[in-house]
Amino acid sequence: MRFVFTIAVLLCAPVLATSQQTQLTYVVHYSAPGSERVRVSMTLPDAQPAALILVMPRAIPMAYGEQQFDRYVDPVLAFSESGESLPVQRSDGPRWTIGKAGARVRRIEYDVNLVRMEREILGASDSSRVRPAYVGLLGYSIFGFVDGFEDRPIRLQIDGPAGWPIFSTLAPQLPAATGSTAAQAASFYALADSQIAMGPKLQLQRLAGTVPLFVAFYAEGEVDTELHGKLALEAMEQVIAYFGSAPFRHYTTLIELLRPVSPEHRYGFSMEHLDSSTYYLSIDRGITSKSTAEQTGRERFNFAHHIAHAWVPKRAYGEGYFPFTWELAPMIDTIWLSEGFARYVAMEAVSAGRTESESKVYRQRTLDVLRGIVSESPAFIRRMTLVELSRVGSTRYSEDFRTGRNLFSRGALMAAEMDERIRERSAGKKTFRDGMRSLMTWSTRNRRAFRIVELPAILAEGTGVDTREVMEKWLQPLDR
Ligand SMILES: [Zn+2]
Repeated sequence: MRFVFTIAVLLCAPVLATSQQTQLTYVVHYSAPGSERVRVSMTLPDAQPAALILVMPRAIPMAYGEQQFDRYVDPVLAFSESGESLPVQRSDGPRWTIGKAGARVRRIEYDVNLVRMEREILGASDSSRVRPAYVGLLGYSIFGFVDGFEDRPIRLQIDGPAGWPIFSTLAPQLPAATGSTAAQAASFYALADSQIAMGPKLQLQRLAGTVPLFVAFYAEGEVDTELHGKLALEAMEQVIAYFGSAPFRHYTTLIELLRPVSPEHRYGFSMEHLDSSTYYLSIDRGITSKSTAEQTGRERFNFAHHIAHAWVPKRAYGEGYFPFTWELAPMIDTIWLSEGFARYVAMEAVSAGRTESESKVYRQRTLDVLRGIVSESPAFIRRMTLVELSRVGSTRYSEDFRTGRNLFSRGALMAAEMDERIRERSAGKKTFRDGMRSLMTWSTRNRRAFRIVELPAILAEGTGVDTREVMEKWLQPLDR
């Protein structure tokens, strides 16, 4: 152990030295309780020759849609090494041209109006928010990047009002730092995919699991925070057990249970991230001591589903997911897999806590619901292939949830049939789980997106069973 450790230190030392020189520094500054705005300041590794391009994300990883976060950014300022102010020009799309030829840019600074963002973005899961004693920030809604610097490591500093606890999913800790804290992100993607929460109304739990689970909680009503934590921990452990190991060193569930801002605002979607998931739901989804077994089961499943996404598609993905295109939602052919397989995995994972007969009933009931969704969908959707539907769903998965529901239902039914085929042909020795584990191994080894045609061979590596026929059947239109 010691020998390995010494080698690792020697290998890491020069890497750290260079990364400190090339890393960017982002400072998030939230000045006072109730303030509408957050200020973001980016310092480049060195003064860089102008003109540079600042880009704000419009596409959200795995949200299959766009939000124009650039609308809430104003003003944008830029400075040279000596602190001299440089010109900034708004360009087409979510872009700004920073500085002009001959100048060198050292620092870019901008404000984001969080109140306007929450008012105008109707899907609660896509927006940051500010309350008198709480602030919740989604990385991609407040962080922009300088074109060409996306792969640089980033040091993040977060400053809040004096005495406020501050929490970052990049470096979760309990007790939380107060007033100021810092974290490290490997790239812009990791930064944008992270979240920040702060304020006296933020409640934090650290639960001991295979890896530490942090539960960050903000509720605008009475709920049982401990029960939420317990359900999240059970779900995380069940999903880790399904895959056999955890791909993260810590995990956070960030839960906001909210009173609707307007009747038009929607509070139903949760979102997955690399090392965390966000649940921005209406307060009536909160679990209390009076909640039924069905309600707690539904929340445990919701946790399991979004935690499973940390494997698929966050770390094992089809083409279009990585590298991510921030300005336009990418066209993705495999949403049926990411959403459907993750749903099936979550279903199987939470079944681990049930008896065999309970599992059978649960499986039957869940698959019947999915079959119902598919059979009741409009004919024009039934006539689409899964790849066609995935491309349509790439930009309006939740906006027109008929596309989303069909994608996850048909994908999960494909997974269920693959599982049945694998169990039958291997005489019960292998299951779909072995296929999923081999997909993870393949993705870690190859560090690239898989292609649909490669999938049966990848699954067969772990199961010894060919599922190509099942996949091809489900990829076809349901009706001609
Ligand atoms: Zn999902």
